[in-house]
Amino acid sequence: STLQEWRKFNKTRVYMSDLESALHYSLRVELSGHTSISGNDLTALKKYINVLAKYFPGRPSVKSALKTVDSWLQQQKGTEIKYSDFRDVLDNTAQTSDAVLPEGVQWVGCQGSQSHYRGYPCAFWTLFHVLTVQAKEMGFPDPQEVLQAMRGYVSSFFGCRPCATHFEAMAQESMDHVTSLSAAVLWLWSRHNRVNNRLAGELSEDPHFPKIQWPSPELCPSCHGLKKTGEHHWDQKEVLTFLRHYFSSAHILMDYLQ
Ligand code: FAD
Repeated sequence: STLQEWRKFNKTRVYMSDLESALHYSLRVELSGHTSISGNDLTALKKYINVLAKYFPGRPSVKSALKTVDSWLQQQKGTEIKYSDFRDVLDNTAQTSDAVLPEGVQWVGCQGSQSHYRGYPCAFWTLFHVLTVQAKEMGFPDPQEVLQAMRGYVSSFFGCRPCATHFEAMAQESMDHVTSLSAAVLWLWSRHNRVNNRLAGELSEDPHFPKIQWPSPELCPSCHGLKKTGEHHWDQKEVLTFLRHYFSSAHILMDYLQ
């Protein structure tokens, strides 16, 4: 493992630097493994970029880069695109306007205690939660839009293939039952906890960031309750309130941005 400069951060906050780094990694590293993109993959890419262009609560320059790529992609009526053309549009946006997605990754809240821990998968989850919350706040009518777009991206492109298989199995089981924007936020939260539960104690777990059922009682006391039987139960109304605050655009920290 390589020694990296450790960036001090607040473990209870979301950082824009992680979200922009996730976009860089997704659009310039993960997708670059696909020389040409067609069929289901092209449909998935269009939906993913469209959801990012609509809901990514970023800096004006980043939003405008996403919107440029989205308009270009929606205009592509053929059955196939070349990744290199996609990349040219993404990288050349800066020549005509201030639209730009910064190059490179700078993990902050998603730093690992060693370089092979956390990073992109952590930031991808964070991005996914932020988008479901943003869709809820903006009140667009389709409760499935963000979930299905991210599902398609994971299935077609997410580099960790076992992750994609596991996620697709959960999606097939219950994603279609989500009928409101609030339910979409809570669906993602509860499935992420299922993944945490499955991975707790595994080799992939960063010892400094143990997998827990999240949020902890310290982070959200009112989210936790006890049934008459003494069993733990989640107060979903409180959890929803908590998630809408935790992942809201106004609450994202702008430290360490490039
Ligand atoms: P992460 O689980 O990545 O979470 C990031 C941050 O989100 C946490 O630090 C916390 O602040 C917050 N958070 C935690 N739980 C929740 C929650 N329930 N709701 C909202 N926010 C929460 N790895 C595997 O080894 N096997 C797999 O099958 C697998 N499947 C994956 C599927 C997907 C779709 C993704 C995106 C990742 C998957 N991973 C899998 C990676 C794994 O889930 C973690 O992302 C990785 O181990 C890094 O963990 P982390 O400690 O940074 O926390």
